This record gives sequence, structure tokens and C-alpha cells, in this order.
Amino acid sequence: MTPDGLTVLDGGDAPIRALVLDADPARRGDAPPLVQLRDIARPIPPAPGWALIRPTLAGINARDLALLSSDRTLPPMGAPRPLPMVPGSEVVGVVEEVNGTRWAREGQRVLVEPNAGCMIRGFPTCARCAAGEAELCENRDRPSVIGPGADGGLASGGGWSEGVLAHEEMLIPADGISDQRGVLGVSLAAAIHAVLRWNRRGDRVAVIGSGTTTRLVIAALRRLHPDVDITVMVDARGPQRTGRRRRKLPAHLAVDESSVARALECLGAARVWRGSPAQLLDRTAELLGARRMIVAGDDLPVLDRGLDAVIDCRGTAASVALGMRLLRSGATIVVAGRAGRLELDWSALWSRELTIAGSGGFGREPAGWRTFAAVREWLTDASFPADSLVTHRYQLDAFSTAIATAAAGEAVGAVKVVFEAPSAPFRQRRLAVDTELPVDDTAAPMLLAATAARVRRDDEGGG
Ligand SMILES: [Zn+2]
Repeated sequence: MTPDGLTVLDGGDAPIRALVLDADPARRGDAPPLVQLRDIARPIPPAPGWALIRPTLAGINARDLALLSSDRTLPPMGAPRPLPMVPGSEVVGVVEEVNGTRWAREGQRVLVEPNAGCMIRGFPTCARCAAGEAELCENRDRPSVIGPGADGGLASGGGWSEGVLAHEEMLIPADGISDQRGVLGVSLAAAIHAVLRWNRRGDRVAVIGSGTTTRLVIAALRRLHPDVDITVMVDARGPQRTGRRRRKLPAHLAVDESSVARALECLGAARVWRGSPAQLLDRTAELLGARRMIVAGDDLPVLDRGLDAVIDCRGTAASVALGMRLLRSGATIVVAGRAGRLELDWSALWSRELTIAGSGGFGREPAGWRTFAAVREWLTDASFPADSLVTHRYQLDAFSTAIATAAAGEAVGAVKVVFEAPSAPFRQRRLAVDTELPVDDTAAPMLLAATAARVRRDDEGGG
């Protein structure tokens, strides 16, 4: 037993605890429960290059909430995953067991990039993976040839548990990154990708939303385009959704709107507005000196000389419709929210030649660099404002409260809600392995040159 308590029972075949989703909520009607905490077999790395990661923090994101929802207006994103499964794709953790890895070693802290492309899953490389876009892999829905451990079901575990499998190519060293920042890796990658889906022309941008993605989009815009003017529109929801959420909440949980606004301004927003679509259009017209064009039979105006880009992190009918009206002709709306079946008037799209850019993942950006290389670099940089985004932490057995808090979001003061996994590993090993081994440059993870240099500096500094 070490002073840190990091030597525990030999748990080679011991089960692990996991939150398990057994059935598609949409097919179950309203029947609870959504997930259950129970023991599952410990996931086994299925092939050389794979590792078992013990999450130290695992986030709850919109994709997870959609998986648990019976509401078909919140479609799950990405390839269908086999059921039963363990949700949770936002993981910072410790390598617990390896199978023939080149650089990942037991005891190492890592971020997990949840993109398993062809090479990792044993297929000949498809066109999208060859382009570095593993998140768009054309073989995502096919069973892996190396077994179910690579398919995202129970055999591979998930973030909301004590163990999840990942291939070494999906791991990024977390040296110099706290757990609290590291658990934001996936959200930050999504935010960076969303910003870069705007092929910049102009400098006046609105971001619609208020959650984790919105906040990281603001910070990413500020970092990638220091000179853009950012307006944040918090409240662009349709009346139905707003009403449904409010009914669930006790009165004392009212939103502290001024503190939300201050937080968004600290991240780089020039101003933060709430209001109805009509009010938001009026204020934008006033700000930009834009002309309000009224179309016959339409209550709301379209702005001429409006914004150059809107990044919509909500993806509701109300937010997309507002976004299109805010834009000048020829401008771009990036839909980074989880839009499902929306009923919209699309006439502005073609009559004003708008561009709609979808953003749902990340992998490699147009300049050729890996999104997670920037994630690592930015999270290592203490000046990047990501420390205040994790607002709630829960143990796995408090999952009902955790999920309800994440779903309520801003209304209960929640931004990023995370699960804290147990602090002790379940296999016997010594901590000393962790700090002494140098990183082998020839086997180092594929990162930016600058990022790799930073990894080496961190190691030399013992950080
Ligand atoms: Zn592929």
C-alpha cells in the first residue's frame, strides 16, 4: 500500500461500476429509469494499441442527454451505438492497462479524443479517415473486425464508469492540464471546429446560446480572431421549450442573469443580450446601422447589412430562424447545436444566398492540424479562460441528480456537470512508473510541432 493508497486489490477480472443505458428511450415511451448503476465486466483492450482508461472526470454533454431522452426533437448524433452501452464521451483519466502501445503507459494521465476511425477499428482506411476526418468515418456503423470492444457498447465501457477503452491514437497526454480543464477537451474541440466552419469574411459575429459550447465558442473566437466583435444572444428559445423548462423548476432557482452575462463577457463577448427575436433583431439593427426589411405576410424583419456570421449553439427552430434574419446577404450561419426536425421558412437561405455550415464533431481542421492538438495547447495555456466552466461534480451513484442538473443547465446555474470517478485504480501497480520515463519522440502522439515541443517542455519541468 503506498501512502497515496494507490495499491489496491488485484482486480484483473473484477467487474467495474458503470452507468448503463439498456434500451433506446425513444422506444420505451416515458418509462424510467434512463440509466442504472451496476457492475459490468471490466473492458479488455481488444488489440495492440488499445488501452483501458480510468476516468477521473467524465462530462455530461448534449449528446449524452439526447441519448437518454425520449424526445425525438433531440436526435442523438454520430453513428448508432449498440445497446446496452455506457454513455459519456468527455473523459480525462489515467491509463490503467495497455496492450502493446507505443507511447501510452500505465499511470499516465490522458485526454480522450472520442474518434475511432478505420485504422483503429481494423478496417481498410476510408476516404474520410484518409483525409484525417475520423469523426466522419464511412465505416462508423459497421461492426469492428477486432471485436465489440471497439464498437462503443458494453464491451468498450464509457466515460460514466470506472473504465473505458480507447486506442492510443485517441489519447492525448494531459501533462500540465488539470482534470477540471481536461474534461472540457471534447467541448473545446467542438467549439474550435464550429468557429473554423466559418470561412471568415467580415468581423461582426453573434453566438446564440449560454452553455458550455457557447462559452468555449466565444473563447475560441476571441483566440482565433482577436479582432471580431462578438454579441451573445442568450435567449432565443421558442416559447414552448422555455415554458416547459420553467415549469420544472422551483421559483428560488431563478437564473442570475447578470452573473451569466458577466461570465460571457469575461470570455470575450462585447455584449450579452436577452429578449424576443423581435427585440434582438431591433437591437442588432441599431448596433450595426442595419436596415430592417419587412416582407409581406411576415411579422419579423430580415436585416440588410446585418451580421457576418452567426454561430448557433442551440439549433432550435427559433434560433436558426433568428440567425438567418440577423445575417447580411451572403453570410454564414454555423449550426453547432443539435438541430433535429425543424419547421422553418427557408426563403432567406436562397434569396439572400446564405451559407449554412453544420458542425457536429472535430478531427482535423482546414489548415491540416488536428483539432485536439489545439485543445491540448490551449488547455495547457493558463491564460485560456476555462477554469470556471465545471460547475457541478457528482459521484456515479448520484446520477439522477447529476443528469437533472445538466439538463436544467443555466436555469440552475450549471454549465459543465461532471462525474467524479473513484480515486483509486483497480489494478495493482506502482506510481513511480509515472514520472521518470522520457517521451519517445518517434512514438509521440500525432500533434502539432509546437504542441509536441510543449509536451517535452512540460516533461522537463516535471509538470
Ligand atoms: Zn473511416
